Amino acid sequence: MGAAPTNGGKGGEPMGTPSDGIDVDVLIVGAGPTGLFAAYYAGFRGLSAAVVDSLPETGGQVTAMYPEKMIYDVAGFPAVRGRDLVDGLVKQASQWNPHYLLGRKAETLTESGDRFVMTLAGGEAEETVRARAVLITAGIGEFTPRPLPAGDGWLGNGMVHFVPVLDEHAGKDVVVVGGGDSAFDWVLALHPIARSVTLVHRRAKFRAAESIVNEAREAGVRIITDAEVTELRGDEHGLADVTVEIKDPETKEVRQEVLPAQTVVAALGFTADLGPIENWGLEIHQRSISVDSTMATARKGIYAAGDVAAYPGKVKLIATGFGEAATAVNNIAVEIDPGAHLFPGHSSG
Ligand SMILES: Cc1cc2nc3c(=O)[nH]c(=O)nc-3n(C[C@H](O)[C@H](O)[C@H](O)COP(=O)(O)OP(=O)(O)OC[C@H]3O[C@@H](n4cnc5c(N)ncnc54)[C@H](O)[C@@H]3O)c2cc1C
Repeated sequence: MGAAPTNGGKGGEPMGTPSDGIDVDVLIVGAGPTGLFAAYYAGFRGLSAAVVDSLPETGGQVTAMYPEKMIYDVAGFPAVRGRDLVDGLVKQASQWNPHYLLGRKAETLTESGDRFVMTLAGGEAEETVRARAVLITAGIGEFTPRPLPAGDGWLGNGMVHFVPVLDEHAGKDVVVVGGGDSAFDWVLALHPIARSVTLVHRRAKFRAAESIVNEAREAGVRIITDAEVTELRGDEHGLADVTVEIKDPETKEVRQEVLPAQTVVAALGFTADLGPIENWGLEIHQRSISVDSTMATARKGIYAAGDVAAYPGKVKLIATGFGEAATAVNNIAVEIDPGAHLFPGHSSG
């Protein structure tokens, strides 16, 4: 196999601890499907890797937007549920122990000697990671969930934007706010295990596909339209109920209803932004980073793959990201150790 890792070990053991700064061969920015597969691939090439993501969970868009959806175009899986694909990617990468830095946003990128130095924000203290190469797999950028104004102060205390672990809401009264596909995905996933699930949407029309709206209706989910959650209230046990203001579409009269709720899922969509990455001296057009056929960006030692990487003819798919991750890491292996082979050999054995 390729280049010897900086720590002299096999695959993922980075040098250093969070307090003295982590030092790895490859720093991967983004723990979506592309970044996770790159973490596996780095280990396979004998390179240590750290994976940074501003979200608290791995899986990128899949975890944030459609963990319960079936995906039909990942090679080798006729159908795979989003969360199962992410679990599989994490498991595949785990054999090389990549160092995960979740809930941390990659902020600045400078160079010192033969190392890139990245500062991360969002952890308990500012952290730095040193790396010989950087692979940006930042997808559509950092997602910021659109806020639910009435939920100010309730995030993490009964209100969530994602539902990574369904069982945490078993037996609870859940109010899902939103009218898009994700809102209905959460509704359908939680309906069988929650005590009650109510969907509250501001308009009469939904952005979600008609089929999924019908599925929710047929499952008996209560759907309240022309309605807004205006207050969340709690007691010593946490969130207890919400007030919903419902407008009569004909008379425009507004009435209030109080719904029991120990969980509010604010599924109002996201804004996405490349943010700090735009200041890293790369060639960026329409929120995508230009790369060549090796996945190298305009800046030596920095590569990009997955949704964030652009070249003529690019198709943004999970399958594409996997191939690009392998191409990027193999080229990084050669850049780190010019004596290494570009072709990694086959993994089968
Ligand atoms: C509803 C929906 C359905 C889809 N269905 C399919 C499908 O059926 N088949 C298919 O192939 N594709 C599908 N896609 C597209 C697919 O999800 C993407 O192509 C894929 O997620 C791209 O993976 P990625 O790892 O490149 O980026 P992403 O999944 O976007 O992950 C990027 C990660 O980078 C992180 N990040 C960004 N900036 C920073 C920063 N500065 N610091 C730290 N972290 C950062 C983000 O938080 C994110 O977690 C779908 C997308 C959506 C929204």
